[in-house]
Amino acid sequence: MIAYLPELHEDELVYSWFARYFAHMYPSYTNAVEDLLENRHMKADVEFLNRLNAEARNAITKVASLEELILHHTMFPYFRFGGTQRLSNALHSMMMMKGNVYQLLPMSKGHPSMNPHYIKYCPVCAMEMRDSYGEAYWSRRAVMRNMDVCTRHKCRLRSTGILICGNRSPRLYVAEEQICDMSMEPVEDGLELQFCQYMEDVFLRPVCFGQSAPVGEFLKARLGGTKYMSARGMQLNTALLLDDLMGFYVTQEQDIPKTDEKHTGGSYSGITKIHHLLHIFSGQNTDFYWICQLAFFLGITPEELVNPALPEKTQTMVFADRVAELRAGGLGCYRIARELGCSASTVRHADQPKKKRIFDYSAARSGKYARDWGQYDIDMLPEVQKAVEQIYGYGDKRPKRVTEFAVIKYMGWPSKRLEYLPKCRELVRGYYEEFPVYWAREVVWCYFQLKKTKEENDILWRDIRDITNLRKKNFTDSFPYLTLFTDEHTADRIRSLV
Ligand SMILES: [Zn+2]
Repeated sequence: MIAYLPELHEDELVYSWFARYFAHMYPSYTNAVEDLLENRHMKADVEFLNRLNAEARNAITKVASLEELILHHTMFPYFRFGGTQRLSNALHSMMMMKGNVYQLLPMSKGHPSMNPHYIKYCPVCAMEMRDSYGEAYWSRRAVMRNMDVCTRHKCRLRSTGILICGNRSPRLYVAEEQICDMSMEPVEDGLELQFCQYMEDVFLRPVCFGQSAPVGEFLKARLGGTKYMSARGMQLNTALLLDDLMGFYVTQEQDIPKTDEKHTGGSYSGITKIHHLLHIFSGQNTDFYWICQLAFFLGITPEELVNPALPEKTQTMVFADRVAELRAGGLGCYRIARELGCSASTVRHADQPKKKRIFDYSAARSGKYARDWGQYDIDMLPEVQKAVEQIYGYGDKRPKRVTEFAVIKYMGWPSKRLEYLPKCRELVRGYYEEFPVYWAREVVWCYFQLKKTKEENDILWRDIRDITNLRKKNFTDSFPYLTLFTDEHTADRIRSLV
């Protein structure tokens, strides 16, 4: 029975909040765990939100919504580079108390972010918390992986020796009891401090769930025009990039760890291999620390990094434009090469994409892989129709938005396939919905799902939110379109929920 919850502080971990609840209420942490979590044998998670029992969920959501708790009081934003679709699925599942967060978010055993790490704190912050609130708490900023500095007080964080993952005791460690060593070790103004400030800035920014470019592609595109990408944008000089990057971060006193050496807190666990870079560019690795390292080195601002957008033109296009410009100015091939600092053959290649396309086309027409796209377009229509219906949803099947991307994914096609299939494409486009219209369809579907198990009067906005993961604004935006999918009476009932 939860009669009282302590105040939840800014940037406080949910774990810390629960630990304080225990300290305020009970002599044994097991009582608190029983009050809060789905089952009393659960181990409270330091970084994330465990599954709560129904009563705790009720009491807790009066203080903050689950979305707010996850985004502002767990380490969720540390995994922000995992791709928007994956993140929004993860957030949705976590809000529904489903799935395993260590699988929902991009973490794997070999992942650098899975190295053992400990609960840390800043002694000065702890002192300030004691002054303001009468007790200290665990803050997210100090618990971040690979973070050694309190940027506010420019001092080194202290470790408690309490392991965050792995074989940790299930007890709730209360900050007020654990924080004893109050000695402060200042950190000089320099690269380390600046980089920590950068990571913290990125961490604290809102997580992007909208459309954005994959961060690996974005970082790769940002190499355009640097010495790490060839003039025509066809090759990366990753060896040089790695050399410079490591020269930038690793000071001479620090030993660079050997390949198979286990890194523990304190030693350098950043980028040390060419394949680390390649994995970042290909999107295989989305580790927060590595991506921040690379982005900070390349001079990318936190704002750019958290909403990555690709440049309108690739380096190849920029180069071709520049060559064309100089050609129009009457310069010859060798002169242009000198001007652009590349070889003459590279300049000659600048025109090639066009030629190549024509060549490929004719080859496709006469070669053994020739495909009659017109016929294929017609043959595929019923398949695409089926895909569209599956995606659109019906009955108990959750409605989704029918987009070209969704259809291509469903069909397992390469990304440009629909461009060759005008009839199929038209069919897909026929299902186009603006977001508010789609939300209306989803809300109506959800309402009728809820009606199967609940009385009309018992259905709350919260129920709809938990299932659809819509924000309140999205919900109200859908109101004008509700009657497209249901009768006036039901639409009114839905509108009356907020
Ligand atoms: Zn501090």
